[in-house]
Amino acid sequence: MKYRKKPMVVDAVQITADMFNLRKFPDGVIIRQVPWEGQYAHELELKHGPLEVPFVVEPTGPERLSVGDWVVTDEKGERRRCEDQAFRILFEPIEEGKGVFCLDHRKVMVDGVCPQCPTLAQKR
Ligand SMILES: [Zn+2]
Repeated sequence: MKYRKKPMVVDAVQITADMFNLRKFPDGVIIRQVPWEGQYAHELELKHGPLEVPFVVEPTGPERLSVGDWVVTDEKGERRRCEDQAFRILFEPIEEGKGVFCLDHRKVMVDGVCPQCPTLAQKR
């Protein structure tokens, strides 16, 4: 037997540099203090105190977030971190009554093609 994934609809928010600057993160994200890493870890710790970084609380425990990561909330309300590259393979934006959107341009796709994305025909 072969199997395929059932379609599922999730809520998702991408972590941005602004969120880090403003220290304002989406629901389900907590701030934790972690030790600095690298050659100057000790000096940085003395100067700034512990490093504060966001974590998403997953069912199996907290996962550290970086800029570009997505926080995905499934139908059960469970949240998970998803790297941008994987997110783009697994998900596409939708809006009820309008259909599928391009993730980069937020334009409604026409026959599966974004009007603003370079198409294969244009590349030829
Ligand atoms: Zn596009």
